[in-house]
Amino acid sequence: MRRVYMDNSATTPVAKEVLEEMLPYFSERFGNASSLHSFGREAKLGLDAARKRVAKVIGAEEREIIFTSGGTESDNTAIVGVAMANREKGKHIITTKIEHHAVLNTCKFLESRGFEVTYLDVDKFGIVKPESVEGAIRKDTVLVSVMHANNEIGTLEPIGEVGRICREKGVYFHTDAVQSFGKVGIDVDRMNIDLLSMSSHKIYGPKGVGALYVRSGVRMEPLLYGGSHEFRKRAGTENVAGIVGFGKAAEISMKVMESEASRLEKLRKEMVKGVLGIERSHLNGHPEKRLPGNAHFRFDFIEGESLVLRLDMEGIAASTGSACSTKSLEPSHVLLALGLRHEEAHGSLRLSMGRYNTKEDVERVLEVLPGIVKDLREISPFKKGYRN
Ligand SMILES: *Cc1c(COP(=O)(O)O)cnc(C)c1O
Repeated sequence: MRRVYMDNSATTPVAKEVLEEMLPYFSERFGNASSLHSFGREAKLGLDAARKRVAKVIGAEEREIIFTSGGTESDNTAIVGVAMANREKGKHIITTKIEHHAVLNTCKFLESRGFEVTYLDVDKFGIVKPESVEGAIRKDTVLVSVMHANNEIGTLEPIGEVGRICREKGVYFHTDAVQSFGKVGIDVDRMNIDLLSMSSHKIYGPKGVGALYVRSGVRMEPLLYGGSHEFRKRAGTENVAGIVGFGKAAEISMKVMESEASRLEKLRKEMVKGVLGIERSHLNGHPEKRLPGNAHFRFDFIEGESLVLRLDMEGIAASTGSACSTKSLEPSHVLLALGLRHEEAHGSLRLSMGRYNTKEDVERVLEVLPGIVKDLREISPFKKGYRN
């Protein structure tokens, strides 16, 4: 059976060119980048080249890029690091209700340690109003964290405006850009971003590697202590092969960003048009302001989990939303924040398309999905007693 992978927001395959560039760093270029000899210098060269490539994508300086173990560590470092370094100024943080758990649970941890966190509401499309950020900033606010693109519904947040407000008010601004990095244009200066999280495995690089952009001069404590790696902001011998792969993945993403965005947008529009042809189906998120490849739907009367399982039987990999919460029966916090009821939130399906998806993949989904929805509705316990 032909398999169709449409879960690119959960992770992506490593691109062939990326893997090729990584391989020598597992064998002949195995050195420790901190060593003085030629083996060390070779590893250091790979590290430096990757740093340059990643910095370029967001308009940063090389020394503002800190390599980490991924998006989760970048979010933790940014939030805990800034909170700890600036706790004399205040202990208030602002974020939104739709952040990834790497941000939300880090904020929860800080609350348990005496910090106060404001979780901002979003509108029905998942957009946070810049004015609500402005209204929430207090004298003791030290950090605002608003994600760039939501990982479930794909909504793009007005981070340029949020950044401007934070700059005016003298508050640090962090954005979790794991989903948008390499897919949507980012300029840390123009958008007044002080800290930005990235991850390699969402852009066709290896898993377990990412980066945090930290604007020079930002007061941030490290999360990990040890050697003086990564400008003393992240100790530990660098994952050189992984970082080299991430650098290559970043470079490719930047090169193909525009053409991929327009190609994926076309595929998405086709998908949306086709799926909304199914009775009582709805699009979640904003119709335009969203990641090019993200299509997120809701079907009355049925459960997203059963949809995902039935699609899997047809060789199609999709998700109900976030890969991280699929194992809990709690409805998605993102969908609830949009104002959806529990039973509505449960009927959701995310189809996230990426570099290796084709028109044929979209056609394949549209060929099988209507039948699956119909089948599931016939056996649905929710259908009875559901008004209007
Ligand atoms: C995937 C993801 C993360 C976590 O990144 P990892 O590299 O998997 O730790 C954080 N935030 C968002 C928005 C994500 O999509």
